[in-house]
Amino acid sequence: MNDPRFAGIGMTSARTRDRLVQRLREQGIRSAEVLERIRTVPRHIFVDEALASRAYEDTALPIGFGQTISQPYIVARMSEALLQSGPLHNVLEIGTGCGYQTAVLSGLVTRIYSIERIEALLQRAKLRLKELSVKNVRFRHGDGMEGWKSHAPYDGILVAAAPLSVPEALLTQLAENGRLIMPVGGEGGQELMRFTRRDQKIEKTSLGPVSFVPLQPGVVAG
Ligand code: SAH
Repeated sequence: MNDPRFAGIGMTSARTRDRLVQRLREQGIRSAEVLERIRTVPRHIFVDEALASRAYEDTALPIGFGQTISQPYIVARMSEALLQSGPLHNVLEIGTGCGYQTAVLSGLVTRIYSIERIEALLQRAKLRLKELSVKNVRFRHGDGMEGWKSHAPYDGILVAAAPLSVPEALLTQLAENGRLIMPVGGEGGQELMRFTRRDQKIEKTSLGPVSFVPLQPGVVAG
């Protein structure tokens, strides 16, 4: 990460990022490793240049195709929830989007498999992560509702878009003691959920109300 573009100036500088991390701490994010990733991953390179000055505000921003880059608080909250019970080696991410959450996670886990249904977004995300020299991510253009069976079981699964109910395939691909963090519910009524597989059963916990774009079936080419 030693490209001068990544260091940022003015509204993308280290000082602006420190302020974001301080805000996240005040909002209850405790994990030092997650906060450190949020401080070091240059969020401004994942958004349009015209929006770069807003990249360290704690807000979702448009990334095209009707999708958004997740709010930093949500990225931090989901990463923290995923990592709470110890280090993770094999992680599945659904909804790569611009690749920001992927970049944050890539420094916190051994390996990530990331699926995105909109090909143009996936190509852009791949490029960004290459620029950041991230090497532990494999990407797939596909429908994440089906998971990615050939690399299962996963000790962590993170989903960045909300279905009305949890896709069965994702629960099936979860390892023993593995956890799935995902929003569930329709517009205006979503909850962030944690599903944990223990002794062949699935434990279910709500982590509070959230607002995500919908998880959609099928793929978008081009
Ligand atoms: N963490 C991403 C969030 C992007 S928004 C970021 O910070 O950029 C959610 C993404 O999920 C969108 O890019 C959307 O296209 C994708 N998505 C929605 N349904 C999907 C599905 N069934 N399979 C894979 N990706 C999906």
